[in-house]
Amino acid sequence: MIPIQMVDLKRQYQKIKPQVDAAIQDVIDNASFIHGKQEQDFARNLEQYLGVKKVIPCANGTDALQIALMALGLQPGDEVITPSFTFIATAEVIALLKLKPVFVDVDKDTFCIDIGQTKASITKRTKAIIPVHLFGQSADMEPLMKLAKENNLFVVEDNAQAIGSHYTFSDGISKKTGTIAHIGCTSFFPSKNLGCYGDGGALMTNDEALGDKMRMIANHGQSKRYYHDWVGCNSRLDNLQAAVLNIKLQYLDEYIAARRRAAAFYSHSFKGIVELQVPFESENTEHVFHQYTVLVKKGKRDALHDFLAEKNIPSMIYYPVPAHRQKMFEGVADIPETLPVTDEIKNEVLSLPMHTELDEEQLHYITSAIVSFFS
Ligand SMILES: *Cc1c(COP(=O)(O)O)cnc(C)c1O
Repeated sequence: MIPIQMVDLKRQYQKIKPQVDAAIQDVIDNASFIHGKQEQDFARNLEQYLGVKKVIPCANGTDALQIALMALGLQPGDEVITPSFTFIATAEVIALLKLKPVFVDVDKDTFCIDIGQTKASITKRTKAIIPVHLFGQSADMEPLMKLAKENNLFVVEDNAQAIGSHYTFSDGISKKTGTIAHIGCTSFFPSKNLGCYGDGGALMTNDEALGDKMRMIANHGQSKRYYHDWVGCNSRLDNLQAAVLNIKLQYLDEYIAARRRAAAFYSHSFKGIVELQVPFESENTEHVFHQYTVLVKKGKRDALHDFLAEKNIPSMIYYPVPAHRQKMFEGVADIPETLPVTDEIKNEVLSLPMHTELDEEQLHYITSAIVSFFS
């Protein structure tokens, strides 16, 4: 059996090697590394794939979130609501810009932002909400966008884990995640569902004026060469990364299908294990399984993690320390005494190997090991 990894990028590369190698060589041959053809092509290709007006490539997903918040014209002390159960970048950029993070809990089934608590957390100072499409499944965007509209709030989607996923509204209209709110942000970190071979990220929006502003902010606030209208930053997707992404974008739907097949195999195999809660897929979303994350009940999570390690099956805990328990926010945010779902699931989550190259033999080996642990 091929050794099992959390993410197997080597085998994924082998299948597209001639195309990727040629695309990389082309960039080098032309010695055009920054703001060139590949980056522009990629922006247009991704706009088309997502059905969104503007894609602005940038250096990484964290920068995308930062640029989004910079573009909204917020003032120090303005409040931004976000779930505590997320990768730290989502909350970190809020504090970095001297805005105030307001942490809310997640839904116990989807692990995405709890809409009721979001509503209850809105104050006069609230200016924005950052939902996270965690592990590859969309937050419940219809009630969230309604709430935002009623309260005149911006919404920035953290789509770093869910590119290619979509959300269906009650009128039957489906939109790709990242294109639903005012701004969407994503990351092309190598292990993400659409990953490059280094760092990369992008912003997306249907608001052309906002798109132009974000493009300027990502390039020192420059409107034309050496004329700077905004305080910005330097955040670029280089052409080598864009060249890789232009190839991999063509395979994104195939990659998602492979992940969904592996997830279905897992969930089917775990039927009947009462101490294991498999990922929930709500009717109006399509889970793209950036992670396949189970909840291990009755305090058995760490024992299962160790048991799998002994069998050379990697598994990971995303995330052991939620944002509201991080030292960096002491004195920066009002720390809620408890966020009950987050504080419970942080002790129960376990992410199993999930990538585009998992084969039946590997899946069978993993699921048999887990079934034997519980029997
Ligand atoms: C990966 C990730 C980010 C940050 O992306 P980088 O490219 O690593 O900066 C932000 N939010 C979430 C939810 C992520 O998973």
